[in-house]
Amino acid sequence: MSSYPASSSFPSLTYSDALTLALRGHSLDAVDARLLLQHVTGATFAQIVSYPGRQLGPVDRMRFESLIERRATGEPIAYLLGEREFYSREFAVTPAVLIPRPETEGLVDAALSRLPAQGRPEVVDLGTGSGCVGITLALEHPQACVLAIDASADAIDVARRNAAALGCTNIDFVIGDWLQGINGKRLAMIVGNPPYIAAADAHLDQGDLRFEPRSALTPGNDALAAVREIIAQAPAALADGGWLILEHGHDQGPGVRELLAGHGFTEVFSDRDLAGHERITGGRMHH
Ligand code: GLN
Repeated sequence: MSSYPASSSFPSLTYSDALTLALRGHSLDAVDARLLLQHVTGATFAQIVSYPGRQLGPVDRMRFESLIERRATGEPIAYLLGEREFYSREFAVTPAVLIPRPETEGLVDAALSRLPAQGRPEVVDLGTGSGCVGITLALEHPQACVLAIDASADAIDVARRNAAALGCTNIDFVIGDWLQGINGKRLAMIVGNPPYIAAADAHLDQGDLRFEPRSALTPGNDALAAVREIIAQAPAALADGGWLILEHGHDQGPGVRELLAGHGFTEVFSDRDLAGHERITGGRMHH
């Protein structure tokens, strides 16, 4: 990495200097640099473009320099900004939760198109993390009663915060181990984006994944271990005609469909993500 220009070459740091320092001094992506500058200064994109000569105060300068250094070492931009957009809403994220992914919006779509419009369907979001899936479902289907579950108390804190910030009231949160304690055959739907990357997969050592919670990404050596556990537990919790819909790895569609069929699920389907990979698979339980 080039170390020119160094911060010390700017006696006072203007918006334009700040971007130069990030791009040329730290090889940052231009959009990341601009987002970090907006984040630190509170300026809008338009203000940064219109007033390139405006100076950062000493505290903003220190914060900006620290953030661009962290970004240069690979820390995800979403963690540095503290937020990520999902389904057109901003969700707070911390290193305690997985960063919401665009492909997970497909899980929301698959769920919304199958949730009964009438009544007050009970829905569980397993491994809610930031809460992006459960909160989005609750907001898009205000008649639904959503229960969001996660094994991590820190994740539940983040999810609760997101629900409050987004004004979502038809959701509850509980710390728990998948569906343990949810027996009773009343749920209209169970959704989840469980960890599905094998522990030995080299992707875990690349990009954003290096900084995300391991337990959110991998269930261990068997990539389908969590999916298997959820599919085994789901029938006892689902109402007659209830759906189980899960996100999974790009090559796991056939395996997940087989597991669902093996546990008596019908109307089994898979949806593809924008890259064309099977990403979402679900089925229906009739008792
Ligand atoms: N439900 C959250 C998401 O889809 C977290 C999923 C996880 O941690 N595996 O982003």
